[in-house]
Amino acid sequence: MKKTKIICSIGPATQTWEKFKGLVEAGMNVARINFSHATLEERKTVEGLVARARKELGANLAILYDTKGPDLRTCSFVNDSIELVKGNTIRIVEEDLQGSGDSGRISFNYRNLVAKLEIGQVILLDDGFYKLIVVAKEKDSVVCEIQNAGVIKSRRGVCIPGIHLDVPYVSEKDKEDIEYACQMDGDYLAISFVNSAENVREVRDLCRQYGKPNMPIVSKVETQYAMDHLEEIVEASDYIMIARGDLGIETGVENLPLYQQRMIDACHAQGKGVIMATQMMTSMKHNIRPTNAEVTDVSNAVLRGCDAIMTSEETTIGEYPVETIQMMSQIAVNTEKITKYNSKEYKLLGTDIHNTIAKCAVEASKDLPLKAIVASTRSGKTAMDIASLRPNSLIVATVLDEKVARSLALKWGVYTKVVSSLTTTDEIVDSGVLATKEILDLKEKDLIAVIGSYPMHEHTNFLKIEEI
Ligand code: PEP
Repeated sequence: MKKTKIICSIGPATQTWEKFKGLVEAGMNVARINFSHATLEERKTVEGLVARARKELGANLAILYDTKGPDLRTCSFVNDSIELVKGNTIRIVEEDLQGSGDSGRISFNYRNLVAKLEIGQVILLDDGFYKLIVVAKEKDSVVCEIQNAGVIKSRRGVCIPGIHLDVPYVSEKDKEDIEYACQMDGDYLAISFVNSAENVREVRDLCRQYGKPNMPIVSKVETQYAMDHLEEIVEASDYIMIARGDLGIETGVENLPLYQQRMIDACHAQGKGVIMATQMMTSMKHNIRPTNAEVTDVSNAVLRGCDAIMTSEETTIGEYPVETIQMMSQIAVNTEKITKYNSKEYKLLGTDIHNTIAKCAVEASKDLPLKAIVASTRSGKTAMDIASLRPNSLIVATVLDEKVARSLALKWGVYTKVVSSLTTTDEIVDSGVLATKEILDLKEKDLIAVIGSYPMHEHTNFLKIEEI
């Protein structure tokens, strides 16, 4: 079984039971609902599919909701699109031209921005495909020269490298969506365009107000400003998503390899989770097989110890969503066979009893051919801690409820089984063996390590190596 988890963004291509089931069977662990695109009806459809997969397939499938964030967009245009002619100029005005932008004048969805634009400033439109350069500055507008030709539709994304948007982090729309994610008891909340630890804390406070104080927060790093405040964002978050799409546009794609490495290192050093996202298998949107470079990219994410890898358009609008996930799973399994994680890169656990037991289990996985480390855990924390040390074996968490099981769906190497409350060490070990047998093909003489607590309310306090 693969240790690296897979998040699939769900969209029109995967909103039928047949396709969705295919994704689960191919290795999807978490379904992503993107508030930027999903209508209320689509959200309900996906939530229904997730519920069905949990019931009919017994899948420990989690939902990750993803906010829109304070993203900068063009206004909408008179005919829903405008033509950009290379060498011509276009004016960007302060006034809101929503619905009336044309090839001569456009505006953005935030006010007080034009004053920040100086001559020479680069402005990128529509996923960075079109480039404008400011050539003249007037009182309430700037004139830009169009660098390359094309047609863009209304409300396309805008990126202005080096300009920090001075707007409230949580918009009214995001607030409603965060409330929705909490009300739906979502398993993870990804937040877009995070720029500081304060942004993360603000969202945590909202989750608390909406009744989900423990909502795991995935901060999407997609701006230079966020890179400049990386350590504090990692500290405030539960997971970091390396959102390479927007980050690459703003900071230049040539910086992505370095930046993604910095994020992975920062997360490992602080014991936080890390997700590699965007354009992992883009060519499989239309092709049945990936490019060699894509295979290597997925494999590198696995080699570098990412908790999860993510698909976007491959599974929202792609022609081969199931084949994409089958391929990603195969690459993960193959790569994990040869991966040796360097424990020095990962945050050391403390020296109390529960941490010492967890470390002993991880050490045992290096000395013995353990098939699994089984952690009997109420909150899921012991399994998370073990996973953060990247042991050589799979981690099986026996938990008391499904909610805790789903909080582990995104974590590297952890598979779960919901068990009833156990009262003796023998019961804990026996249920651990049974759980592992359901997840893995255990054979006679195979070894597993079981850790748990006796009496039950204590922290983890015993380790037993069990021969099947
Ligand atoms: C990204 O920009 O890489 C990303 C994951 O963000 P989104 O898909 O929300 O645009």
